[in-house]
Formats: sequence, structure tokens, C-alpha cells
Amino acid sequence: MENSTNSKGRFGNHGGQYIPETLMNAVIELEEAYNHYKNDKEFNEELTTLFNEYAGRPSRLYFAEKMTKDLGGAKIYLKREDLNHTGSHKINNVLGQALLAKKMGKTRLIAETGAGQHGVATATAAALLGMECVVFMGEEDTKRQALNVYRMKLLGSDVIPVKSGTATLKDAVSEAMREWTSRIDDTHYCLGSVMGPHPFPTIVRDFQAVISRESRAQILEKEGRLPDVVMACVGGGSNAIGSFYHYIDDKDVKLIGCEAAGRGIDTFETAATINTGREGIFHGMKSYFCQDKYGQIAPVYSISAGLDYPGIGPEHAYLHDSGRAQYVAVTDDEAVDAFEYLSRTEGIIPAIESAHAVAHAIKIAPAMDKDKIMIITISGRGDKDCAAMARYRGVDLSE
Ligand SMILES: *Cc1c(COP(=O)(O)O)cnc(C)c1O
Repeated sequence: MENSTNSKGRFGNHGGQYIPETLMNAVIELEEAYNHYKNDKEFNEELTTLFNEYAGRPSRLYFAEKMTKDLGGAKIYLKREDLNHTGSHKINNVLGQALLAKKMGKTRLIAETGAGQHGVATATAAALLGMECVVFMGEEDTKRQALNVYRMKLLGSDVIPVKSGTATLKDAVSEAMREWTSRIDDTHYCLGSVMGPHPFPTIVRDFQAVISRESRAQILEKEGRLPDVVMACVGGGSNAIGSFYHYIDDKDVKLIGCEAAGRGIDTFETAATINTGREGIFHGMKSYFCQDKYGQIAPVYSISAGLDYPGIGPEHAYLHDSGRAQYVAVTDDEAVDAFEYLSRTEGIIPAIESAHAVAHAIKIAPAMDKDKIMIITISGRGDKDCAAMARYRGVDLSE
């Protein structure tokens, strides 16, 4: 997919619109609509009402006192996106996009999903707003995530198993893009992270920026100053960019993204894109991707299905290039330890994705002064991961 390109939606050298001519009209229509509605008072009021009344925002900024004492260093706050309706930050993006699509006169949403979390969130928004919904999911993933397939169907959506390629997330994205090309008139492609061709990385970032808009006001109220460190896990990068966005101009706030190292960045079983990837063009954007020696997209691995994507959003690629944000790699082992640690210490079971950020906090907080402040985004709740974590520890739970 590299037919037409232009300089729109660049983050430094990254981003852009590397898409077939047939998709050009769709992204232009979307960009124009978004540029209109993002400044529309009524649209923003409706979205805020959905966020607050339906999704349960604002999410809490919780002082993790026991964890702080236990680690003995920086003061740790948790931004609780796990408390949102449907259990993660994904609802922020899908409510925004579904409302935008509806304003554009679209009656049908399509989406890609890997583990099923974004598919379930999109199906939820479609049910709420009375829209048709079709979710593309790699056939392998439909088998691994049968419960989420059931949830999407329960919410009134169709789930289409994708058999091409490795029959996983990247193939589901490709299939959703193809489907969008053939049905632009009534369909909006509700993309799940800050990736893909412009304007998606910008649109998704703006809807997720509610996380840092809130956390900034909350920390100023609680501490009277900005944090020293803001940290989040990175798959495609939507919860992380949302967590970073309103601090980017505050140069003293250190931004840290935690990638999934899988079994280690020195192995082939990893999903740490910044730490192991190279620049490339895929899924409509220029960014960093995990690639084999021939430049083909490499199979990626992480215990966390939500971080198991071979690319990273272009704005993160730019924040990395410019040195504004730091990207560290966290292994499966470290994440599972952190999953158990936060459960035991604070009574909060985090998503295994979020546990990657908790793991890095466990590494760096003890060496920080006690007057330093750290915010960790807990992107989702961990109920969905309990069976897999038990299995990792050698216990087979039959659900
Ligand atoms: C999907 C998901 C992620 C990864 O996606 P990003 O776009 O990187 O935020 C992280 N945490 C949870 C709980 C998720 O469901």
C-alpha cells in the first residue's frame, strides 16, 4: 500500500498517508469532517456527556500510598483508566470516532481487533449509538479470544475471521482497510490506536488526550505542581500518547513509554518496536516496525495481546527521534511480576499491558528522591488476563 503519498500529518519524518488512491477520498472526507467537528461546541459537549455519563469519566488519579512506601522512592500516582466502562482507555477513542461518524451521516462502523478489546469497545459504541458494526479479527485470534467474540456478537456486531497472512492483528487491519475502500459511502473505519494513515494518528490522539488533560489538573490540585515522570505502556501507543500529550511542552516532565520485550529484545520473540525495529512503511504510515532481514514485517510476540503489534504510532517515533520521550523494554517475566505486585500491594489487578508500565516503575522509583512525583497510567483492568497469568505460573484454570 504505497501508491500515493503527501506531506500531511507528518510527525518529523514519520506519519503521512501511504495509501492506495481508492482510499484517498475516504481519508480526505474524514479529515475535513474532523477539522470541522473538533471545534464544534455541540460535538464537544455531546462527547463530554458520553465520557462522563456513559464511560464514567473523569477517571481517578489515585495516590498509591502502599506502593510508594514499599518502593521507598518517588511518590506514585495511578491514572485509573481501568475504571472506565468496558475496562480500558479504548472507550475514549471509540466514543469519539463513533460520534464523529454519526455526525458524518455514516450508519456503519468497521474495526480491526487483535485480542478483542478494541472490537468489544467499538461494538459497545455501535450498540449505544444505534449503528451497524462489523469487526475484522484474525482467525487465530478468534480461537484464542472466543469470549470476546461472544461479547461482540452479544452487543449486536458481526465478527469476520480473517484467514490471510498469519491470521492475526496486522492481517485484520489490512482487511478492514480493504473493506473500507469498497464501502466508503455508509461506513467509517474506527481504527483502534494512534496509527494508520493521517488523520487517524491525530484523531485518536486527540480523543485519548483526555487522559493527560485530566491528570494535569488532578496533580496540580493534589500536589500543586506537575509530575516529574509520566509513564504508560505502548502497543500502537494510544494510551501512552493520551497520557503524554498535555505534558509534551513541559520539558521538565519526563515521558516514558514501556514496550513489550516479550522474551527479551535480544530474542526473536519480542514486540519492542522502538528498541528493535527499523523505519519502514506499513498500514498507511511511515514509522518504526519490527522487520526481518529482508524488510518484511516480522512476527511479533508478547504475553500481552494488546501490545502484540509490529509497529508504533508515528508521533511516538518522532518523540523518540527528538529525544522528548524515552522508550524502554519490559519482558513478560517482569510484567507478570508487576501484575501480581500491584494486585497484592494496592488491591488493583491491572491489565497485563498496563503491568509493563508498573514493572518499569518498580525498577526506577526506588532510586528517585521521595519528593519526586510519578504518574503511571493503568490503561485497563486485568480480569481478562487472570486465566493466562495463572497458566504462566503453571496453574490451569478452566473458566
Ligand atoms: C489495547 C490496549 C493497550 C495497547 O494499545 P495502545 O494503543 O498502545 O494504548 C494497552 N492497554 C490496554 C488495557 C489495552 O486494551
